[in-house]
Amino acid sequence: MNLLGNFINGEQLASESERQGAVYNPATGEHTLNVSLSTAAETKAAISVAQIAFESWSKVTPLNRARVMFKFKALVETHIDELAEMITLEHGKVLSDAKGELTRGIEVVEFACGIPHLLKGEHSLNVGRGVDSFSLMQPLGVCAGISPFNFPVMVPMWMFPIAIAAGNTFIMKPSEKDPTVIMRIAELLTEAGLPDGVFNIVNGDKESVDVLLEDKRVQAVSFVGSTPIAEYIYSTGSKYGKRVQALGGAKNHMLVMPDAKVKQVTSALMGAAYGSAGERCMAISVAVCVGDETADNLINQIKSEVAKMRVGPGSGLTEEAHMGPLISKVHAEKVRGYIDTGVEEGADLLIDGRDFSVKDHENGYFVGPTLFDNVKPGMRIYNEEIFGPVLSVVRVNSYQEAIDLINSHEFGNGTSIFTQDGDSARQFCEQIQVGMVGVNIPIPVPMAFHSFGGWKRSVFGPLNVHGNDGVRFYTKMKTVTARWPKGEQTTSNTFSMPTMK
Ligand code: NAD
Repeated sequence: MNLLGNFINGEQLASESERQGAVYNPATGEHTLNVSLSTAAETKAAISVAQIAFESWSKVTPLNRARVMFKFKALVETHIDELAEMITLEHGKVLSDAKGELTRGIEVVEFACGIPHLLKGEHSLNVGRGVDSFSLMQPLGVCAGISPFNFPVMVPMWMFPIAIAAGNTFIMKPSEKDPTVIMRIAELLTEAGLPDGVFNIVNGDKESVDVLLEDKRVQAVSFVGSTPIAEYIYSTGSKYGKRVQALGGAKNHMLVMPDAKVKQVTSALMGAAYGSAGERCMAISVAVCVGDETADNLINQIKSEVAKMRVGPGSGLTEEAHMGPLISKVHAEKVRGYIDTGVEEGADLLIDGRDFSVKDHENGYFVGPTLFDNVKPGMRIYNEEIFGPVLSVVRVNSYQEAIDLINSHEFGNGTSIFTQDGDSARQFCEQIQVGMVGVNIPIPVPMAFHSFGGWKRSVFGPLNVHGNDGVRFYTKMKTVTARWPKGEQTTSNTFSMPTMK
């Protein structure tokens, strides 16, 4: 069995750890690889490497750092088919979805290519007579990223391109469930001209994460994953004096108004609910329908669209599947358990994906598309993140009832409204307590030059990822106030608070 180690100082290194994690092909259930779960000592050694590399990398000009990013972007594009295949093999998502993930990651690299512009800072001439003020945006030092299984490339790419372009060095701790593709990304960074030690990968679990949180040499930690771990990362990292941005779980609602075009809503909802088998933090898992007629029409359409869905392995079919398997056997059982719970709680199970298998892939971790009606707040299937292909319909009587429902949920990652009425949409954008909002857009993931992040228990820490927040997160600002008096000037000592004249 192949064993994946780490990527340190520009090369793949075997780990000394005796602990290993198993990696599977979710479409077949085949055990394909083991990954080393690094020791605390190995993680510390990686931090030392990154700290040494920071000395020289932080002195490379932003323009030359951007040039490495340009080459890296071109290499990712050249290798997109190979990288997508690697994602599909370990994550399970279909190839076109894997390419979509890579494209969204590339867009952050494109944003990072603008780093000379992004680091310009502020400048004010004559804040006082003969006095100028300007800011320097300087790198922090060693930064770390900890990522979830569901976007093994895109989420790391939310983090390291901006961090590195800004002059930091980086340690990535990928998900132990699909760790291979990011190792290939590390090789492409080296091929693009990134000096050794600037980007390192430590494969592992809590043992290595805790070192990254506690070691004083790590200045900032970016985390994306489930809410309980995000909260732990935020509180522990903050306790050790680090900057932390920690993005957590979600339960995203789509508000369907009575005037929305049902076919448009259905086609948006199908991909948003069942794409990537529902394993997206921006997946729509709740459709909130205003009025019974809206709900009945939508349900009829969804039923007929689900009947046409192809579920199968992410690659190797003549006609690509719409949806692949879940990440693991354990997770597939958890999702089936949620469907059991929904039935026990009294929701109406209209489409049941529990007893679902794919021909020639009977050992794959497939759960079929599932639809519940008459789901109510308080039910576990409404309150909790299922992270599977399970869509719940909640019926409400008015727009205001829908707003109150969405605003009462503990998560606030993404949401959307489908309507023909500009006034309802405008009010929705203003009143909704959610970080990312779509108007007739089902998955409102902001582009790389805007920032991504939710509200409430979907995020911990004030700065979101990529866009201007990403640049602020990975730099510290210094403000210089300068005067260049000509020759010897007579000034009197001042003991009161200085003010500008
Ligand atoms: P997870 O929280 O189990 O794992 C995320 C990372 O944390 C992994 O690298 C894992 O090794 C590490 N980890 C796990 N347990 C840990 C512990 N006790 N201590 C320290 N580190 C630990 O999440 P997952 O199952 O890989 O990913 C799915 C979750 O991620 C979902 O909740 C999803 O909503 C969320 N997610 C959120 C966003 C967002 O932008 N808000 C994006 C993608 C995924």
